[in-house]
Amino acid sequence: MARITLDTLRHAYGPRPAAREDWALQSVDIEWRDGGAYALLGPSGCGKTTLLNIISGLLRPTEGRVLFDGQEVTRLPPDRRNIAQVFQFPVIYDTMTVQQNLEFPLRNRGVPEDQIAARVAEIAAMLELEDMADRRAAGLTADQKQKISLGRGLVRSDVAAILFDEPLTVIDPHLKWKLRSKLKELHARVQATMIYVTHDQTEALTFADEVVVMSAGEIVQVGTPDQLFERPLHTFVGHFIGSPGMNLMPATPAEGGAHIEGTETAIRTANRPSGNGAYELGVRPEFVTFAQDGVPVEIQRVADAGRFRVIETRLGAQTVRMLAPEGTEIPADPRLAFDPARTFLYRDGWLAGERP
Ligand code: ATP
Repeated sequence: MARITLDTLRHAYGPRPAAREDWALQSVDIEWRDGGAYALLGPSGCGKTTLLNIISGLLRPTEGRVLFDGQEVTRLPPDRRNIAQVFQFPVIYDTMTVQQNLEFPLRNRGVPEDQIAARVAEIAAMLELEDMADRRAAGLTADQKQKISLGRGLVRSDVAAILFDEPLTVIDPHLKWKLRSKLKELHARVQATMIYVTHDQTEALTFADEVVVMSAGEIVQVGTPDQLFERPLHTFVGHFIGSPGMNLMPATPAEGGAHIEGTETAIRTANRPSGNGAYELGVRPEFVTFAQDGVPVEIQRVADAGRFRVIETRLGAQTVRMLAPEGTEIPADPRLAFDPARTFLYRDGWLAGERP
């Protein structure tokens, strides 16, 4: 297993990139800890697959370096990088049996027979493939084939890292939940460096110790699920993670906090302004409450969401959502308070004071 460093990596698919949008990856600097379980989370087109393919060597970056344990591998082809990759769709040999498919990556590298047998038995058991070991892959369902693909990715114990590119897309929802927990369990057991690409926040948050959030070709935050929730470094993390996402409102800095556009009262914030730019005030719906000395709002809509109610209010020209426990009474004169320790000022998208 290896520590993987991406050093000022940039990638453009076309020749002569000039404008920002010509770059699929803007400038990526990150170190993936040896043995870490990471999720790479972001919307479609933000550059996740590009980043993964640069790590595995399927793609050579336009600029920057890739290092495994401090050794540069930027120009090495995939077969010399010792990476296992599991793709969105099954990559297996239809004519082989399930057992042969699982053995193949080991046999190919001359692993001794007794070790092959033990390792394949372990992986097949974890993925519940033992009962179909002797069946040809051709006759299996898409779910079953993808489980074999996962098994082929996981079976080698000598790889630098295992990369998963949206591996559960073709898996049925019930099994998805099961496999997700299995992968986490497997990570705990094999301690491999694992990078799991997804655009699904639940998948990312359940699998990973650390989540790397990408937007428009750049990494906007690396953090534990708690850190992403409690202190988003970028407004993108605020609204992409959480349900509903963070309330974000244009704001003007004031003493100790900010005025939300179109309102009189200054709201206290956890951080301070840091220079000129477009400011927004951000607070998650979980940290908004009704309070007698709060700012007056109009109630727009109330939706029941299981144990919670999502209450949508109007504050000046802005919509503010709060997440209140089931049964919360709506006061006759509704006023909102924002938890000052969880209310942040963002400048040009970034948490003020965190970025120039
Ligand atoms: P998805 O979740 O849809 O797979 P992604 O986050 O993995 O998206 P990438 O596939 O890495 O994103 O794409 C990043 C950007 O690069 C997108 O704008 C995409 O259109 C572009 N791109 C990807 N592959 C190519 C290619 N082979 N040629 C040209 N542009 C490409």
